[in-house]
Amino acid sequence: MESVMSKSEQNKSILYIEDNPANLRLVEQILMSLPDIKMLSAIEPLSGLELVKQHSPDLILLDINLPEMSGYEVIKQLKTMDESVNTPVVAISANAMPKDIQQGKDAGFDAYITKPIDVKDLLFTVEKILSDK
Ligand code: MN
Repeated sequence: MESVMSKSEQNKSILYIEDNPANLRLVEQILMSLPDIKMLSAIEPLSGLELVKQHSPDLILLDINLPEMSGYEVIKQLKTMDESVNTPVVAISANAMPKDIQQGKDAGFDAYITKPIDVKDLLFTVEKILSDK
């Protein structure tokens, strides 16, 4: 597909924190179709937060149902960290009721993508957020 990203917006890094390996692989495969994207991934929240400190990613994709900490606890921490206070965070969750999506917006997520993941929706959301930055 055609990318809407310009040359000045190349080499963006995206971190995906997700405990389901099948979802991780799927999203990585989808986003690797975008030009000059570097994917980072973590299967549990604490290693995800560590990657944020090390790499200051341009965009964070965050599962809600995670071991040890929920995605809501993770975004709360992200918004207190220098490396991610201004970083867009997108929820990717199977919790797809309107109240879930509203809770996500209230918690500070820039977008809320529901599972099963719609490929076009994911690509559109990611490209829009990265080109707005
Ligand atoms: Mn999960």
